[in-house]
Amino acid sequence: MPHRAEPSPKTSSGRPAVAGGNPAFQQPILVTRPVAPNPERYAEISAEIFASQWMTNDGPTTRRLEQQLQEHLEVAFCATFSSGTAALLIALRGLDLSGEVITTPFTFPATPHCIEWNGLKPVFCDIDPHTYNLDVEQISARITPQTSAIVPVHVFGNPCDVIGIQEIADRHGLKVIYDAAHAFGVRAMGRPIGVWGDLSIFSFHATKIFHTVEGGAIVANSRDHLESLTLLRNFGIVNENEVRGIGLNGKLSELHAAVGLLVLTEIDREIDSRARLTRHYRERLQEIEGIRFQKSADGARGNYFSLALEFSESEFGLSRDQVCEGLRAENIFARKRFYPLCSENDCYSHLPSACSEGLPNARRLSENILTLPLYGALTINQVDGVIDALLRLRSNAASVRQALA
Ligand SMILES: *Cc1c(COP(=O)(O)O)cnc(C)c1O
Repeated sequence: MPHRAEPSPKTSSGRPAVAGGNPAFQQPILVTRPVAPNPERYAEISAEIFASQWMTNDGPTTRRLEQQLQEHLEVAFCATFSSGTAALLIALRGLDLSGEVITTPFTFPATPHCIEWNGLKPVFCDIDPHTYNLDVEQISARITPQTSAIVPVHVFGNPCDVIGIQEIADRHGLKVIYDAAHAFGVRAMGRPIGVWGDLSIFSFHATKIFHTVEGGAIVANSRDHLESLTLLRNFGIVNENEVRGIGLNGKLSELHAAVGLLVLTEIDREIDSRARLTRHYRERLQEIEGIRFQKSADGARGNYFSLALEFSESEFGLSRDQVCEGLRAENIFARKRFYPLCSENDCYSHLPSACSEGLPNARRLSENILTLPLYGALTINQVDGVIDALLRLRSNAASVRQALA
């Protein structure tokens, strides 16, 4: 087994590695690890695909995966794509939008990039400091006569205020396209996540909870008017004699679809295991001063995609960056996600809505957030090793600060 890494037996009274102690882990503990498809089954299916010589272009494996995803996600429409980015590009293109699109700066760069690639203008809106998702009150304040859509993100799999967002969209005649890249298997207000808004997109990248190595999907609650989206992933080709719409190559291959079929059989177990590990993290860290957890949306069933902690430097004794470096010395690779904010990158910082005075909650969160290792194959023992290392940093804060100065 690669990456096997049990924590060295050490208590929170020992010296942190950054201040001269031994690292908590001999092998690196990364923030995530992809679910591995069964290799024998993959060999069988890929041999069939090679023998059939139908490698891509709406093949039987891709269709089977789309059918299974449609059932699993309880949606009426599911079209796969070569990436979440391709899915979002085409979702926005297919809805024929214009002008301004309201979105969150606290996301992966693909979200605003897809808006820009469609010749639309991203308008950044502040987030709720507890759920990390778009603040519905703030959305209203950003609507202008040019606004045509909202692209909210279910950050770390925590569902947005789907009812509040729909009310605003209905009142102003706006489309809603959810970036559900993190939210595979999530439910909001008792309903599956993919039924909300006009469309949702998923990413099936290997770092996501369900994956096809690279891949993505557009899903919706109705099939009406959506066949054109499927054409656009294949250059807009209708048949030998007709091209309808400026499409691109956004197709999932048969080999990627085969990975998806196998990963889908593991997904419930993966989520159960992450749920158990998350409970353990919470039990041990809940009462620690200076650490805050993301607040789950009311009526949500989460998928435990990510374990995000918000640090208060004054209460914890160390800044987020110091904690991150301290953990790295222990061979624990936490991630500053999402830092910097999308709006702080050069390509967006000139926009009026990127001005940090308008985004105080997003800015504060981005500076204090850290996601810790969480994946199904992690053991409780390893989680204890991560927590012990974190508490050791806290109880030796002065010497950690000194070592990092
Ligand atoms: C991963 C991700 C994407 C992009 O998906 P890809 O499959 O990598 O193209 C988009 N939005 C968010 C929020 C993501 O995390």
